[in-house]
Amino acid sequence: MNIHEYQARELFERYGIPVGRGAAAMSAKEAVKAAEGLKAPYIIKAQIHSGGRGKAGGVKLASSIREVEEVASRMLGMTLVTRQTGPAGKKVSKILVAEAAAIREEYYFAVSVDRAAGQLVLIGSREGGVEIEEVSRTNPEKIVKVAFSLQEGLKDYHIRYALDSLGLEYSKALADILAAMVQLFIEKDCSLVEINPLALLEDGSYLAADAKINFDDNALYRHPDIEEMRDPAEENEFEMKAKQNGLSYVSIGGDIGCMVNGAGLAMATMDMIHYLGARPANFLDVGGTATAERVARAFEIILSDPQVRIIMVNIFGGIVRCDAIAQGIVEAVKTIELRTPVVVRFEGTNMDAAREIIAGSGLQIVSVNSLYEAAKYCVDYVRGGVSA
Ligand code: GDP
Ligand code: MG
Repeated sequence: MNIHEYQARELFERYGIPVGRGAAAMSAKEAVKAAEGLKAPYIIKAQIHSGGRGKAGGVKLASSIREVEEVASRMLGMTLVTRQTGPAGKKVSKILVAEAAAIREEYYFAVSVDRAAGQLVLIGSREGGVEIEEVSRTNPEKIVKVAFSLQEGLKDYHIRYALDSLGLEYSKALADILAAMVQLFIEKDCSLVEINPLALLEDGSYLAADAKINFDDNALYRHPDIEEMRDPAEENEFEMKAKQNGLSYVSIGGDIGCMVNGAGLAMATMDMIHYLGARPANFLDVGGTATAERVARAFEIILSDPQVRIIMVNIFGGIVRCDAIAQGIVEAVKTIELRTPVVVRFEGTNMDAAREIIAGSGLQIVSVNSLYEAAKYCVDYVRGGVSA
């Protein structure tokens, strides 16, 4: 789960990371009220779950309260298209009004998980700010990564090594910020804590001029204070609906819908589609007990994505029996309006019976024998090779 910058700033404050003064506002009037408690100049920032706001016009300076009002009324309600939002963009319904800091240098610092090393990692660069993606592409040597274990934590020597590699002078204030980022990361089960820019100000102090935190969804149950920060307007509509139905669904953006039992098999299915040159529309794990009811909900969720042109059902009958799922599929398809072809592959317990149920159903469902065949059929279909 992601949260907004103004919420991440609250958490930073709790952990002693300096953020400067500011407040969120939902109307120009509220923005004026927020600015009245602050010192000029002001900075006004769109609160959407996306980076790259600066380049898209979502970060503006204002020198007077009147200007705050003008900028706020223009920014609220606008749709911001950043390099992370996709072409549809995101509507701005909240802004942050803060005291603009006098920035001398902009650094990048983040704490994340290094999956390959099975450790946490501190990532840093002295060329932070809006061009960080460009830096990582063209000058990766300007980014330092220091892995450290969860048990040991981030030690002072890690920090000294990172700052030294970047050619930055060690300072207690900076080291404290980095240590606090790690403490927050661990205590709140984050997957990312990022400050870009971590600003060195004209007066020599440091400030988190931006704040981004992502949380591990699987750990949210033990952080009700974080769960409360969820912004439903930022959630994917299909993913919300899936969650309500006990299905694990992630929208990916391609055109082949996937319904699979088991997370690992679902990943393998998506890999196979990629391997054959197309893009899956989603990850969907129907779980071990794929009843007709659940299968029907799963079809509906897959089909509510307008990009889906064909559905690939991939079932491995281990604990569940293939014939029970086949029955579920047949019943489900009768209750919903299917607008795409469906390809099914059964493997495992009672697979022959399952294939007979599909064949005898009179429904337009293509039954194939292997994962490869199923994926190939779907990929050929979306590329215009076969007609279902
Ligand atoms: P992002 O583009 O979504 O990452 O939004 P940021 O909050 O990082 O803002 C983009 C850029 O605006 C930063 O890289 C800074 O250059 C600038 N900026 C942000 N806050 C301040 C501030 O308080 N003072 C000044 N002078 N510039 C700021
Ligand atoms: Mg930023």
